[in-house]
Amino acid sequence: MTEATETSVRNDVRAWLEANWNPELGLVEWRQKLIESGWGAPHWPTQWYGRGLPVKFNGVVDEEFRRIGAVTVARAGIRTLAAATILDHGTDLHKEKFLKRILTGEDTWCQLFSEPGSGSDMAAATTRADFKGNKWIVNGQKVWTTSAHKADWALLLARTDWDAPKLKGLSYFLLNMRQPGVNVQPLRQMNGYASFNQVFMTDAEVEPELQMGKNGEGWKIATTTLMHERRGADGLRGWATASTRKGKIYDDERAEVATTMEPYKWYPQRAGRVDLLIQRAKDTGKYNDPLVRQEIAKVLTMQKASEWTARRARAAQELGQPQGPEGSLGKLISSNIARAAARTHTLITGADAMLSGSDAPMDGTISEILISVPACSIAGGTDEIQRNIISERVLQMPREPSTDTEKPFREVPRNTVMLGKR
Ligand SMILES: Cc1cc2nc3c(=O)[nH]c(=O)nc-3n(C[C@H](O)[C@H](O)[C@H](O)COP(=O)(O)OP(=O)(O)OC[C@H]3O[C@@H](n4cnc5c(N)ncnc54)[C@H](O)[C@@H]3O)c2cc1C
Repeated sequence: MTEATETSVRNDVRAWLEANWNPELGLVEWRQKLIESGWGAPHWPTQWYGRGLPVKFNGVVDEEFRRIGAVTVARAGIRTLAAATILDHGTDLHKEKFLKRILTGEDTWCQLFSEPGSGSDMAAATTRADFKGNKWIVNGQKVWTTSAHKADWALLLARTDWDAPKLKGLSYFLLNMRQPGVNVQPLRQMNGYASFNQVFMTDAEVEPELQMGKNGEGWKIATTTLMHERRGADGLRGWATASTRKGKIYDDERAEVATTMEPYKWYPQRAGRVDLLIQRAKDTGKYNDPLVRQEIAKVLTMQKASEWTARRARAAQELGQPQGPEGSLGKLISSNIARAAARTHTLITGADAMLSGSDAPMDGTISEILISVPACSIAGGTDEIQRNIISERVLQMPREPSTDTEKPFREVPRNTVMLGKR
């Protein structure tokens, strides 16, 4: 087989789109066709709906879709992390049951990791899963669960062994969210959206075949999920935005963004909207202000450097080299970029940046940026935690002292009540 090049990939995807793209198809019908072709997730293995191409070609494929306004697979939200984790650790049954429906957008996912007493210290989870009869029974509480109110399935981290040390007593499950034992309560954020939830599990059930990995492998698999989260799900992630074009497929896509993808509507604002800076400077007459120009240049430079770092990481990954520091660096840099972009928006817009509502600058988008950007420094691991990872794993500085990783977890002092007997 000849090696793929940018030109060959472009020609192939263009030819396939010319023969198949039809905006009058239904969204799921089109995505099914697309998935069978492998052009929906070209970097995935050929036996699992991909074409086995290096990730670096995803940009070329996306350009060809954008050129003709073709809709691609479902890419927004936790479903991308679910897909990446299933590809890495799932059984064939998991892959068959879930991957296709993730790409078509038929299933929505959430991530049940954080708890009231364990956010940064995620491994201190006290939600428990006990094997009773012929299935796992789950009891506990999770919090900050994005999209749980829309989700069909969840990635669940739960404790299965209380006598093992903290990191070794956790297991990983794929939990059906549509069952009586799962109760979802929404939480409202300061930007007005309610994309988070508290999730209470009372005797929720998981079939044994929906455990991922073995007992005690939960921490290892959860780390994979977080690594994909910090790397932006390796090229499959996209925003929940829809085209304004006419056609059945675009109507369906707009409906998807308004319903299942609604929790992710503010995510572009959370990233600081670097893309709006130059136009805003032009529209407000600040384009020739030397201070504004300097700040815009700084943000764009940071963004370019971060993009190149991510590309370097992908190239290393494709050459089979071990995972470098780029995941945590990239996550930290994206928080810095978002904050710098928000500051620059304020510099351009002035005090009006604080106004919200339809008569505010850009219909309130600027104020939404200001109050959404802090989420970037918390979600998927806080900036402080990324700095700890960089200092310990990359710079090999001394580890943070810990007193709770060796002894059985049931003996570790905690400030949360443990469900069931101690
Ligand atoms: C937009 C958004 C979406 C989210 N979605 C999800 C989701 O879908 N699923 C999910 O499970 N969770 C989700 N979360 C939760 C997120 O993962 C946690 O908020 C995060 O890990 C921090 O945990 P915490 O809130 O408990 O803060 P804490 O861990 O209590 O931290 C409080 C403060 O202490 C600092 N800190 C804590 N430990 C250390 C340390 N060892 N060294 C230095 N500083 C430290 C932190 O940096 C932070 O500033 C989401 C959060 C946000 C903002």
